Amino acid sequence: MSSPVQRYAEATVPTEYGLFDLVVFRDARDGAEHLAIVHGDVRDAEAVHVRVHSECLTGEVLHSLKCDCREQLDHALRHIAAQERGVVLYLRQEGRGIGLGNKIRAYALQQQGADTVDANRMLGFSDDLRSYDAASAMLDDLGVRSVLLLTNNPAKVDGLRAEGVAVAGRLPVHIPPNEHNRGYLLTKRARMGHLLSDLGELLLDAE
Ligand SMILES: [Zn+2]
Repeated sequence: MSSPVQRYAEATVPTEYGLFDLVVFRDARDGAEHLAIVHGDVRDAEAVHVRVHSECLTGEVLHSLKCDCREQLDHALRHIAAQERGVVLYLRQEGRGIGLGNKIRAYALQQQGADTVDANRMLGFSDDLRSYDAASAMLDDLGVRSVLLLTNNPAKVDGLRAEGVAVAGRLPVHIPPNEHNRGYLLTKRARMGHLLSDLGELLLDAE
């Protein structure tokens, strides 16, 4: 089967975290441009620290406090820059794949009391439309043999494995919650299977 993405452009870019090689891949099916943010030499490497991150304009650009995406991305870039090698895959799939407009419609439903899962279902979307075949193809192109995945989400581990990625282990991501995203994080734990042990204390706070 041919790869769903093609390597399109690359350059080394200095960032506040350090130097990264940015590799852009194009998905021929929808024209999306996904980004591999690479630190060090990852070709033929085993147990490479990898974060598979889905774009979040509201969190990353506007610093919205409704989710923890920006903190997770920031953590991942810092973490990977501190390793000998690592990769952040930045996938252009806003709002768990439903798109920016539908994500804002879901926020409107949440303003009326729905949680993140129910809001998406009310709009007719399944819980998570993100797919990981592009991520798998990008890792393959980069020559990464196996990964240690930075995530709290077991479904992401399963999703990548289903696409053929050798996930050798999981590295938990601990982000302190704020008063706005507490409900969102509790929903991720209660309804989406995320492993967020830090929230035990928060539940008590909320009661
Ligand atoms: Zn977000």
